[in-house]
Amino acid sequence: MSDIKIQNLTKFYTLTLLKSKKSVTGYYIIKRLESDLGKTASPTYIYDFLNKLQSEGYIEHTPNPKSKKSKGFQLTSSGKQFIDNIFKRFGNLIEAAIESKLKICASCGVKLYEDFHVETIGGKEMNFCCKHCAKAYINSHHEK
Ligand SMILES: [Zn+2]
Repeated sequence: MSDIKIQNLTKFYTLTLLKSKKSVTGYYIIKRLESDLGKTASPTYIYDFLNKLQSEGYIEHTPNPKSKKSKGFQLTSSGKQFIDNIFKRFGNLIEAAIESKLKICASCGVKLYEDFHVETIGGKEMNFCCKHCAKAYINSHHEK
């Protein structure tokens, strides 16, 4: 559908700002990137990205009755959909990254480090902080 790739935080944050405000300008995006993330984005980079979003029909110039030349952009309905999909995908990525690095006890939720108890339940390896938690988990998840 679209060849726009959101492969870095600058673009992702630009979308976040577009989503959170009624109308944003390139200047506003650059300022927020700087103040919120400490990132210096070149205006060319931001305006190129905005132009691309506009040519895909994801954003449009905010109507400004006072001036014919509006610098602000707002999301279109297909832009909103586009962003929602991106956010979902990023959400999954972030969850997967956290899960792969972090093990928690399947019973009590405590963080696990080197020393933990592994139990195979229903063909699936599960991690617990101790045998007692494993036992409690098995008891509470026993098939009824
Ligand atoms: Zn536990």
